Amino acid sequence: MNKEITCTDLVQEKLALLKQNTHQTVNTLLNDLAIDLATKVDAKIAKGETIGLLEGIPFGIKDVYMLQGTYTTASSALLKKYKSAYTATAIQKLLDAGAIPLVKENCDSFGHGSSSENTIFGAVKNAINPELVGGGSSGGSAVNVAKDYTVFSIGGDTGGSVRQPAGYNCVYGLKPTYGRISRFGLMAYASSTDCVGPIAKSVEDIRIVLNAMSGKDNKDQTTYASAEIENKNISNSESIKTVGYFKNFIDSEAIDAQVKSDFLASIEKIKAKGIEVKALDFFKSDTLVSTYYTLAMAETASNLSRLDGTNYGNRIEAETLKETYAVTRSENFSEETKRRIVGGNQVLSQGFSDEIYLKGLALRDDISENFENDFAAVDVILSPVTPNTPPKIGDSLKDPLAMYLSDAYTVGFSLGQLPTLTVPQGTATGLQISAAKNNDELVLKFANFLKDTI
Ligand code: GLN
Repeated sequence: MNKEITCTDLVQEKLALLKQNTHQTVNTLLNDLAIDLATKVDAKIAKGETIGLLEGIPFGIKDVYMLQGTYTTASSALLKKYKSAYTATAIQKLLDAGAIPLVKENCDSFGHGSSSENTIFGAVKNAINPELVGGGSSGGSAVNVAKDYTVFSIGGDTGGSVRQPAGYNCVYGLKPTYGRISRFGLMAYASSTDCVGPIAKSVEDIRIVLNAMSGKDNKDQTTYASAEIENKNISNSESIKTVGYFKNFIDSEAIDAQVKSDFLASIEKIKAKGIEVKALDFFKSDTLVSTYYTLAMAETASNLSRLDGTNYGNRIEAETLKETYAVTRSENFSEETKRRIVGGNQVLSQGFSDEIYLKGLALRDDISENFENDFAAVDVILSPVTPNTPPKIGDSLKDPLAMYLSDAYTVGFSLGQLPTLTVPQGTATGLQISAAKNNDELVLKFANFLKDTI
């Protein structure tokens, strides 16, 4: 620590930037809390005490994480005035490591979306070109990192919501292996694919934040214990001998010509380093998208059924209890969220569930099996993050189906529960690196290799 700047100055500088809300990334500014914590870090430094790696580092939190005493709105009208009664495990671990939360960040309401336009706080603007969308659903988080308003941010990724906005704003974004980080205190969207994910400007920052948040948690039975990833273990890529990519992702008619040629050029650069590259078969994009949306809608319909104005949220009284539920939910949920609740309840209902929901579950098993076979043949899989570059603000809201199809390259890895990282190289919206389950270390290792290769 060379004491060039005090922690309080650093925090104040970032808070001042966030206060302007230039890109509509801010739902709540955590001014008092941040300054209070920064003062404590400065006092520790003044006393000559050693401080940890994350101590005093300002970060942002997607507005779907509980942080006791702060508003947690999920960017929805329903929870506009809801204050967290407790703190999410992942966030608590960062607080314990001394990191300083500055802001609850704008996102698509309940994680429903790919553009961060589905929010009561106004569409998030892209960090590179503010006429374009910030990406979603963790758009506010990716933009804050890209603009240096936060040093890192914690997004949530159910079907691509960390990786896609990271790609749209040219920063790193990791969806770890499902279960590596506790979901306790993350507002549930689709519980079987929800992941806590860090967004940052370097592989090293991703590694540090991932290590701080990982681990078994008694409050989330899907978590598992994982070993710390050490810097020295990811700095040399000699163990990576084979890379795969999905032929049909690149041959698809939906891919932008430039994204395609940039992707193929990256593959050539990797080959030139002596790595073997294999083209792999995979499920068609529309099968992946429909499987993901069938299951995600079913799970979100079930998870959001608790939001009826009784225990939480903006209750609107009507004549009868049933009408109260109906009015509260129909007035306070967005069109997109309602579309998903209706769709989800439909696929779960008698007469449809065998035909649709169970078929979705069976397909998911097939997708996982496909991945297992792939990872017997290759060490990592490389994909574009998105078929296209970010749309203009306002354009994608007109066509929900087109919006769902834009998730073609991210959702498969969510269904497989695989570790997948967006790196800001290779194509205009970056590249995704995936590895077998629990192999998050390999993903970071390959990211370091790519940084020096393409
Ligand atoms: N765009 C995808 C969806 O709307 C993914 C969202 C997410 O990962 N939260 O479901």
